[in-house]
Amino acid sequence: MASGSYSLMWFRKALRIHDNPALEHASRASSFLYPVFVIDPRYMDPDPGAFSPGSSRAGINRIRFLLESLSDLDSSLKKLGSRLLVLKGDPDQTIIRCLKEWNINRLCFEYDSEPYYQSLDEKVKSLASSAGVETFCPVSHTLFNPLEIIKKNGGRPPLTYQSFIKLAEKPSWESSELNIPISSLPPVGDVGSCKIFDVPTLRELGHSDFELDENTPFRGGESEGLKRLKDVLSNQDWVANFEKPKGDPSAFHKPATTVLSPYLKFGCLSSRYFYQCINDVYKDVKHSVPPVSLLGQLLWRDFFYTVALGTPNFDKMKGNRICKQIPWNESDELLVAWREARTGYPWIDAIMVQLRKWGWIHHLARHCVACFLTRGDLFVHWEKGRDVFERLLIDSDWALNNGNWLWLSCSSFFYQYNRIYSPVSFGKKYDPNGNYIRHFLPVLKDMPKEYIYEPWTAPLGVQTKAKCIIGKDYPKRVVCHDSASKDCRRKMGEAYALNQRLHGLVSEHDLTNLR
Ligand code: FAD
Repeated sequence: MASGSYSLMWFRKALRIHDNPALEHASRASSFLYPVFVIDPRYMDPDPGAFSPGSSRAGINRIRFLLESLSDLDSSLKKLGSRLLVLKGDPDQTIIRCLKEWNINRLCFEYDSEPYYQSLDEKVKSLASSAGVETFCPVSHTLFNPLEIIKKNGGRPPLTYQSFIKLAEKPSWESSELNIPISSLPPVGDVGSCKIFDVPTLRELGHSDFELDENTPFRGGESEGLKRLKDVLSNQDWVANFEKPKGDPSAFHKPATTVLSPYLKFGCLSSRYFYQCINDVYKDVKHSVPPVSLLGQLLWRDFFYTVALGTPNFDKMKGNRICKQIPWNESDELLVAWREARTGYPWIDAIMVQLRKWGWIHHLARHCVACFLTRGDLFVHWEKGRDVFERLLIDSDWALNNGNWLWLSCSSFFYQYNRIYSPVSFGKKYDPNGNYIRHFLPVLKDMPKEYIYEPWTAPLGVQTKAKCIIGKDYPKRVVCHDSASKDCRRKMGEAYALNQRLHGLVSEHDLTNLR
């Protein structure tokens, strides 16, 4: 491209400088570079009717994490002679307006496989192309290009982790230098009549009532993500011997996994760079292998991205060909008790409090509450639990959240519905004293150890002494696990049998049509 070109770098995820091929391309041979982030009010504005502080789409922790990430990106861009231009409005209309107003001839942004971005990007690309603007959308959010894997598999996504790994092989960039330091960026050109904002604060966005007694300890941004990665990598033994699902879900002062998921979600940390760093550690030592290794976790991420992209209606039960059809109940009462940490099972309720306050919980904690809500105890539809996670998690990720809810509810990928997490004994295995419960449910802090997981069994005298009367200070159980789980197993068995019969009927029908 001739010098004199005007480039626009559209940040959505990929909120980073390192390993950012779209940014590199945008800055190459450009006279002016406009780094833009568009604040969509539907994502950011407060929704007073929502069940927790935040907007209609995102809880307050994720909005805050995003704002911190944008501030960090702005200061990194400033160090390189540029800055972040924050605009507000409908993303597609805003970007199209900027292209015209600034005479842009090159538009760069990272490819995104989420349905929301697929339709948004289609619209923007077609308008840009009719205006003669070149677009460049590299794949750098995932290790592999999910479309290429689907193509390699004859047009359908691989449905098991092992078949995914076989198809994926090694990434093409495995030994390329991904983290090449950038020393400067082209200047930002004249912004004309476009209204540019600084990165807003929560208060400026209208989230002024946000007062929680405890907030997420995780700060957003590329600098924090890289610092966290460095800390993780400094313990080479830990990285080399990482095995999931080993690890203590109740460890909250020092979580048992990396807590890099929020940074990967927003692209503050490149998954490809993370992969290379793990491989560097592996070079000289004996190490664990996928699916349980740390590198294996990143492959799980890519696996779900691939299946999600290649499966119509992946986020629904109906019309989703890989999802078992199960007659879940529609009980809002049970859903709300679960969501509001009022099930009467301290292990489950403490996890739901951590989720609300921190926006992050350990993988096995996610297993426990997802199983409890769906096939384990309450038999509530997985889509409803998915919605709660989608809103509250900082790392909320369309493909990973839906994929894991499908898994945990035994709707897809995993079918051993007889294996149910006990809301009593599972947590006790890791934390017999109940320290995790005492921290997140202070109402139970004085309950003796022998009753902390089952406070309804404590004699009234013990409850009185612990200043926690069950049914008054802490709720009674919404269900009795023994009978509820038995009931769930029976309903799952019936639903599976019906799915089998329906599958048979469909196949017979298909065959008849073929004959
Ligand atoms: P680590 O164990 O340190 O793993 C490193 C990275 O590997 C993670 O950051 C993540 O990107 C990836 N990874 C790890 N486990 C998985 C997995 N099972 N599936 C896909 N990728 C994985 N993860 C999200 O990032 N966003 C979600 O919205 C999300 N929703 C979930 C919902 C349910 C019901 C369950 C059971 C799991 C969900 N997970 C989700 C997957 C997993 O729990 C988190 O990625 C992990 O706990 C994040 O913590 P970490 O970064 O310390 O993970």
